[in-house]
Amino acid sequence: MTPENLAAELHSHATDRRTIRLGGNFSKDRLGGAPCPAGVTISTREMRRLLQYDPRDLTVSVEAGMPWSELESILSGHRQMLPLDPGWPASTVGGVVAANLSGPRRRLYGTARDMIIGMTFATLEGKLVQSGGMVVKNVAGLDMAKLMIGSFGTLAAICVVNFKVFPMPVETRTFEMRFATAQQAFTERDRILQSVLQPAAIDIVNWPDGFRMLIAAGGSPAVLDRYARELPGALVVDESAWDEIRNFGSRFEGTIVTMSMKLTEMAAAMESLKVPAIARAGNGVIYAHYAQNPPQPQWNGDFATMERVKQMFDPERLLNRGRLYGRI
Ligand SMILES: Cc1cc2nc3c(=O)[nH]c(=O)nc-3n(C[C@H](O)[C@H](O)[C@H](O)COP(=O)(O)OP(=O)(O)OC[C@H]3O[C@@H](n4cnc5c(N)ncnc54)[C@H](O)[C@@H]3O)c2cc1C
Repeated sequence: MTPENLAAELHSHATDRRTIRLGGNFSKDRLGGAPCPAGVTISTREMRRLLQYDPRDLTVSVEAGMPWSELESILSGHRQMLPLDPGWPASTVGGVVAANLSGPRRRLYGTARDMIIGMTFATLEGKLVQSGGMVVKNVAGLDMAKLMIGSFGTLAAICVVNFKVFPMPVETRTFEMRFATAQQAFTERDRILQSVLQPAAIDIVNWPDGFRMLIAAGGSPAVLDRYARELPGALVVDESAWDEIRNFGSRFEGTIVTMSMKLTEMAAAMESLKVPAIARAGNGVIYAHYAQNPPQPQWNGDFATMERVKQMFDPERLLNRGRLYGRI
């Protein structure tokens, strides 16, 4: 599969008004979401070439079907990284971008929006649209690509993604602190955010009991020693502590509900939750795991604008019918 023949295939199905189920490795469907009912299924997983990698420019361009784990291993050979941390190693680059996945390190490095500098996608009209480029400062036309981030395959097929990558820190260390109440944990979070420390991640979890704060720090040995001094009572724990955070979704049967809120609202929200939850404490996001009866997610997007965008790309609702734009 190439971007050109993917564009032609989409156009042919659209001309025949066939509904299309679009994905990478379809791991989202395996996670419990019902597959979108469709006339045809198209996977971009065969489109998986490394197109360009300039370690000195900190940029890389790959096709959307490349497994995220393969991209990570290419970059780590040059001590570089893309800290989006999807919880599922088989996720393709296109799946990660279309689902706008991010992990604990978004506190310091941001989300896909902050890392993507260019993209090529194929539309139902059979066109290949190029947006942005390979230059970190050249953001002209990148708005179109930004629409694809988090679009869940409802607008067009992502073919190529160009990223700005990050150097790996010299050393990393994970600190853990334990608290009896959520309020104590978030008071410590506030102190850290107001200090000189710049942790890559601050997550607060409510299992196995009480509240645990995990802090990921990176830098020179001197910088890491400063963390140890500024975090009295914190234990240094193995980096594998993050594995249970990354694998949160696969640890339990059920549904993960994502809640966004102000930093000041997080303590009360965590205190009130009776199910396992992770607070991405520097970002105002909580992921709560419900074995049954999950609450309906709050919709706080601009639905009218999203409808207009959907009309522009896919007026007949052929792509991933039933999957709402911007929602799982
Ligand atoms: C432990 C665990 C945690 C997870 N956490 C999350 C989570 O927090 N949020 C979440 O959304 N999913 C989550 N998932 C589901 C899944 O891992 C992600 O959605 C990931 O993106 C899947 O990669 P994939 O290649 O299998 O994509 P798929 O499952 O095939 O697709 C994911 C979404 O991206 C779209 N898509 C895929 N490729 C393209 C492309 N080339 N162009 C346009 N659209 C495309 C699909 O239409 C679909 O809507 C999780 C899965 C596991 C096992």
